[in-house]
Order: sequence, then structure tokens, then C-alpha cells
Amino acid sequence: MWVRPRTAAGATVAADVRFRAGTYDGRVTQDEATPRTGKRVLLAKPRGYCAGVDRAVQTVQEALKLYGAPIYVRKQIVHNKHVVQTLEAQGAIFVEENEEVPAGATVIFSAHGVAPEVYEQAKARSLKAIDATCPLVTKVHHEAKRFAAEDYDILLIGHEGHEEVIGTSGEAPEHIQLVDGPDAADQITVRDPNKVVWLSQTTLSVDETLETVARLKKRLPMLQSPPSDDICYATSNRQHVVKQIAPDCDVVIVVGSRNSSNSVRLVEVALDAGARAGHLIDFAHEIDDAWLAGARTVGVTSGASVPEDLVQDVLAYLAARGFGDVEEITTANERLTFSLPQELKRDMRAAAAARG
Ligand code: SF4
Repeated sequence: MWVRPRTAAGATVAADVRFRAGTYDGRVTQDEATPRTGKRVLLAKPRGYCAGVDRAVQTVQEALKLYGAPIYVRKQIVHNKHVVQTLEAQGAIFVEENEEVPAGATVIFSAHGVAPEVYEQAKARSLKAIDATCPLVTKVHHEAKRFAAEDYDILLIGHEGHEEVIGTSGEAPEHIQLVDGPDAADQITVRDPNKVVWLSQTTLSVDETLETVARLKKRLPMLQSPPSDDICYATSNRQHVVKQIAPDCDVVIVVGSRNSSNSVRLVEVALDAGARAGHLIDFAHEIDDAWLAGARTVGVTSGASVPEDLVQDVLAYLAARGFGDVEEITTANERLTFSLPQELKRDMRAAAAARG
């Protein structure tokens, strides 16, 4: 397999770029034994793990090291089957609600955030709670609380039933109405059309959200926007690069789980941007060879909760079927990282001090 990194504008990316473990390392590798077939892969970058997912997964792993197994995790820590299975094998127990956690045990709240009542339940059961909510989700919670305190009607654009939406709505249920897509905008009623703001789930389609906001603004011209983008950098960046490659692709393969909102959006964005077909898979073995029949260009990307290993498995699978020429298209370089939750860091410091 050989890999040629390139920016979307066509400039060659330095071949000696160094990347951290867990992400594609970007080195140019050339296997002269691989025959040139005229078939190629366009590999999107950025793809895969975002800062919030990285932090959440590390939180569980560090907690396991520090406190020992089992560690309870309320809901899937991130929406990825492989990550959840891997952490289970390391001693994490995933539960749906706090009631399933033995009194006094440690529970970690997932990256998607929780409503305030979930903290209260944990307190009532004397659970040691560690909050792995992504700081960019927490930012939306703060916005919801602030606008609710100022007595705004808040229109939360998001998908009904998604954990993040449930968590954010729980901050101010009496002020928040869910708007699930552009068509739902027409059903909204507010108390005062001069005092209404929209917020959003972090993992939506950027374009569909703009459409929903435009529909809302037709009815509510004084609708205020969030102080800063609620759709996070990782979601936007992954959609942006997919839009660049999709028009050239016969098929786009997105690695990600079905309950991962940002992964599902990537398939939709690829199709909207001109890919002839798009598929969401958890693992390489789920690829149907019929998808590749007659294809010359296959796009590959992954959702924000997907480890790079799974993408490399897909590239290996494709290479074995003649798609060994991989061109990485880069539209952004992400360097954001988040520190671990304070409550965990405090215990880690105390343990280090106790060890001397
Ligand atoms: S997708 Fe965005 S909001 Fe969600 S965990 Fe990643 S950075 Fe945070």
C-alpha cells in the first residue's frame, strides 16, 4: 500500500510530519510490491478521535488503573462498539442508570453529558462520580443555564432521544424546546418572539442546522444565535473534508457505529456532496465487496469516536482488493487536547504523593 499525503488545495504535506500514537501517523510508506491498479482511496483528514473522546476514554482507563476494576460507566462512554468492548475487557461495566451501580462505587458519566438530576441521584446513592462530559458539551450546558436564567425561550436543535440532548434539556426543561430538523421549525411556539435563542447539539450536520435556523428565523426574525458555534470543531472538520473528497468518490466508507451521531452525519454529508454511495461500518469485515464493483475511487473516513486501528483495518482490506494507492486529503490539522476531569486528577495526585 502506498500513501501520498496532500492538502485539499493540492500542496504536498511534509512527509516527516510526526503524529501522536492513536492517530494515523501520516508517514509516506511505499510498498513497491503493490501493483498500481488505477484504483485509489481518498483518505480524509481530520478523521477519528476528537479531543473529547480521547479524554473520555483516557478517563476510564486512568480510573481503572487508579481505583481498580470494576469501574462503572453510565451509558456508553463514547458511541463506538469497539471502544466499549475494549474497555469492558479492561474491567469497565456499562450501565444505563445510576440505580444499577452499587452504593458507594465509582461511576463515570459519559462524554455526552448528563442532566443535573443525574448528579443528584449519584449523590443520593453515595456514588463517587467522575464527569467525563466533553468540555464542548459542558459549554452548551452553560449557555442553556445562562439563557434560562435570563428567562429566554431556548430552541435546542438536535435529535430527539440523543443522550446529549437529554442532558442539555435537563439543565432548564421549562425553557427548552427541541427542534429536530428543519421541518420541526414550523411547529415552534414561543412566549416572546423578541426573547428567544437557538442552541444546538454538538454533532449535527452543519448544513442542515443552517437550514433549520433559516426556517426558524423566517418565523422568528429576532431569534438570537449562540455566543459561539455549538457544533464542535471535530464535527465541522470531519464534515468539511468529506465534502471535499465526496464528489470524486464512487463510494465513501465511514467507520463508525450506528448510534454515533457524527458518524451517521458523515454518510449523509458524503451523499449530499456527490458521492455515488456511502456506507457506515463498525469493522472492515462488514464491507460488502459488491460496493467496490466497478469503483475506481473509494473515500474513507471515520467518526470522532473511532480509533485509528479500525481505519487501518479498512485500508488493509481495500488494499487487498486492488485499492492500495491511498491519498490522504488534509483540510485541517487538529491539536486540541483536554485535561482529565478535576476529580480524577486530584485522586491521581494524591495517589502519586502517597507513593512518595
Ligand atoms: S464530537 Fe465534539 S462535542 Fe463530541 S466529544 Fe468530540 S469534541 Fe466533544
